[in-house]
Amino acid sequence: MQEIIKTYLSETEFSRIDLRAVLIDMDGVLYDSMPYHASAWYEAIASLGIACTHEEFYMYEGRTGASTIDLLFNREYGRSATDEEKERIYQHKSELFAAKGTAHPMPGALDFLGRVKDTGLTPVLVTGSGQKSLLTKLNHDFPGIFTPETMVTAFDVKYGKPHPEPYLMGLQKAGVNPWQAIVVENAPLGVKAGTTAQIFTIAVNTGPLPDKVLLDAGANLLLPSMRTLASQFDTIYTQLKKQF
Ligand code: CA
Repeated sequence: MQEIIKTYLSETEFSRIDLRAVLIDMDGVLYDSMPYHASAWYEAIASLGIACTHEEFYMYEGRTGASTIDLLFNREYGRSATDEEKERIYQHKSELFAAKGTAHPMPGALDFLGRVKDTGLTPVLVTGSGQKSLLTKLNHDFPGIFTPETMVTAFDVKYGKPHPEPYLMGLQKAGVNPWQAIVVENAPLGVKAGTTAQIFTIAVNTGPLPDKVLLDAGANLLLPSMRTLASQFDTIYTQLKKQF
């Protein structure tokens, strides 16, 4: 762990980590919703006759819907989708997703958020999701953790991940610098967004992708689950607090 921190500090040229805030992704981190998203995408795209795999949608996680559709159109037809096509396809995907029911909180997520709060750190949600009922749902599943002031959603940002904007905005909402926060992410593009914002990024591999994909995206630390993160959080916190 000390080696990992040294590498982060030398890459970012920061002198130390002074942890104040934890920037937390939602889908695949707080909710076990990625299997639903991946299936909905697969069904929406395959129904157009476009060749795709279920797994590839885990690679695109964090992208905006429009950019995912463009990527697939360019691969299949050699052109971008029109606005009308994007709207129609994304609408279809959203309907398929909604029909799958409510995603359950990720095992370990509630414990982890409790540890973050008990430690006196500020938790900030950073998601590309734009569901209007988001805060209500979060307050139900994770009571008293997030407020509108500590959430970055689709309504706040112009660029999706892997652009660092969502995490830079998360830092702003927490009122901290990159060396005063950590990111918790499950997707390669989300990890890229966190590390491009120069924030120490913990990847939790809650999906089907190989660990290598998350490490190649730049994850500073890789853990197998939110349960592991919850149980190791005190140790990680102590290590990060150590001064060099
Ligand atoms: Ca995610």
